[in-house]
Amino acid sequence: MSKQFDVVVIGGGPGGYIAAIRAAQLGFNTACIDEWKNAAGGPAPGGTCTNVGCIPSKALLQSSEHFEHANHHFADHGISTGKVSMDVAKMVARKDNVVKQNNDGILYLFKKNKVSFFHGRGSFVAAKDGLYEIKVAGAAEEVISAKHVIVATGSNARQLPGAAFDEENILSNDGALRIGAVPKKLGVIGSGVIGLEMGSVWRRLGAEVTVLEGMPAFLAAVDDGVAKEALKQFTKQGLKIELGVKIAEVKSGKKGVTVSYANAKGEAQELAVDKLIVSIGRVPNTIGLNVEAVGLALDERGAIVVDGDCKTNLPNVWAVGDVVRGPMLAHKAEEEGVAVAERIAGQHGHVNFNTIPWVIYTSPEIAWVGRTEQQLKADGVAYKAGQFPFLANGRARALGDTTGFVKILADAKSDEILGVHIIGPMASELISEAVMAMEFKASAEDIARICHAHPSLSESTKEAALAVDKRTLNF
Ligand code: FAD
Repeated sequence: MSKQFDVVVIGGGPGGYIAAIRAAQLGFNTACIDEWKNAAGGPAPGGTCTNVGCIPSKALLQSSEHFEHANHHFADHGISTGKVSMDVAKMVARKDNVVKQNNDGILYLFKKNKVSFFHGRGSFVAAKDGLYEIKVAGAAEEVISAKHVIVATGSNARQLPGAAFDEENILSNDGALRIGAVPKKLGVIGSGVIGLEMGSVWRRLGAEVTVLEGMPAFLAAVDDGVAKEALKQFTKQGLKIELGVKIAEVKSGKKGVTVSYANAKGEAQELAVDKLIVSIGRVPNTIGLNVEAVGLALDERGAIVVDGDCKTNLPNVWAVGDVVRGPMLAHKAEEEGVAVAERIAGQHGHVNFNTIPWVIYTSPEIAWVGRTEQQLKADGVAYKAGQFPFLANGRARALGDTTGFVKILADAKSDEILGVHIIGPMASELISEAVMAMEFKASAEDIARICHAHPSLSESTKEAALAVDKRTLNF
């Protein structure tokens, strides 16, 4: 007799493990299957995000930022350190330890919430008598069954044709987080979030970093004003960014990698680097899931087809996170996981796609929610814009980081906030106020009239709201 569950979740990343915990909280007998292995072969739940994504990248960004501060900014505070050096192995070991703490935390949460955890690969076997049979292939093999299945199998890094990842010279996000020594020259193909974050880490540690981007515009999805400021700042920091390139060939050898490409003018160029990070997007992952056994529908990109409620084409089979449509973000996956568990319980789980925040954890940080100025123009929406520079914020001056600004876009008539765009210190934290405001359909005037602590960076958000009505007080 196979073990039977109310809900089985396949995949233990942010979408899957959160869905499993919420389902268990709602009283369902729940299992979560995840195949990720740590270095010792043991379980490492948390998915891409915890193991080779959000968490380790932020750990390295933090270490490299400390290094940069010690090298370039401590002196302004009267602190002299002498020559600062970086022990890369120790930095990477610290990062690994941060990851482990998160893995262990998830295993603890499973226990606390009575979620049964299976370490191994889950695949569909059959649908029988209103139940789905799922094989778990781990140290041993067993078949479990469930009334509801939530698929949260995430995504994998997209390979560049003709330049397969070897994680030695040609690196995905995985290899980029494990580089053992600072490369003299580092190439990055793709100037998206991952490319810029990884490029920043190694640039701060002393690598000469060149970013090659196929699109003619830098950060095309970001508000134009923010993208322009970001390009200026990154270039000033020493990142070489070439836009509108066309990659012709990537050759990897003992001495490193050579990338042949045409620049924006069509001229043939060559870039020789020690390591190359390829960050050109991610593809939904259903490898080994055996979707054919039950007829689970995929789209042309390989994503599981779902409706707005994350329902697939099969009764009681749901899918969330990177393996379905929508932004590939951990918090989007989590929100979908919670909503699905609540829908299974007959509740009205809801994800508001209009208020999902985006963050790029470079320095300066970039964060936004809602529509950009260029989108509002294209949609023909009449809007008012208010902008406030961190240069005029007392806390930013005290921090010694006055780069960037907060920009608020509000409906010209109703004053409802339509988008908030931040580039500058702690943008990742500041954006939450904007998300909350938009979730509650606040007007710019609402933020302008809320008392913000002084001195705080968040006063810049209030001032940007005042600027929407042309009445900033500090600028
Ligand atoms: P995943 O996290 O990919 O988890 C899927 C899990 O399912 C994995 O553990 C996998 O091993 C397992 N699995 C797959 N198939 C099976 C199977 N058949 N059986 C058992 N287990 C299976 N997002 C942010 O919001 N903020 C960030 O700062 C951020 N930084 C990132 C930095 C990098 C370098 C990268 C690569 C990504 C980053 N992301 C970030 C994106 C984020 O990691 C993903 O959006 C998020 O992990 C998606 O969650 P998920 O649960 O859908 O899938």
